Amino acid sequence: MHGTTRAIHRCDADVTTAVDGFTDAPDPAAGISPAVTVTYCADHLARSRPWHRLHTVERASDPAEGRCGWASDFRGPRTGYQDHADGWLNDLSGIDRADHATWAAYLTALHRELCARYGLDPAQIGGGAIGWIGLTAAEATAMPDHHEGAAIFLVDAEILAIMGLVEDAPEQCC
Ligand SMILES: [Zn+2]
Repeated sequence: MHGTTRAIHRCDADVTTAVDGFTDAPDPAAGISPAVTVTYCADHLARSRPWHRLHTVERASDPAEGRCGWASDFRGPRTGYQDHADGWLNDLSGIDRADHATWAAYLTALHRELCARYGLDPAQIGGGAIGWIGLTAAEATAMPDHHEGAAIFLVDAEILAIMGLVEDAPEQCC
């Protein structure tokens, strides 16, 4: 199955669990494949649970399956966008996807709102989730019919937000 595998954060702790996310109720006997699979250490599993919006199944894993924070995403980009909006972007920003005609307009408004709230310059790309949301907005504006790059940026933003790194991240390039 074609998918995108991302190392969505760095963590050297031992992997304990793989979370398979299904778009419909999972029925392994029927051979339904997950839409998303993420491998976690115990700590990141606990932190990520509130963000799980798909039907998920947790199963024991080991380092041979991947590192903590490796995600295999088999969804199409538009499905992924909507899941990001429903799962965390609307809540984080108070901006509703339904109020904007296009993804580019929604992401741009969302980026501006978060920059204003945190006192950031929208022209500066920071290392936190807001910076990656800004990159996503720029990508969606420049290439509205190509979603692969934007989808990957949003994955990075989501994990930074999960880790509490909304406005900035500690390791910054000068
Ligand atoms: Zn971890």
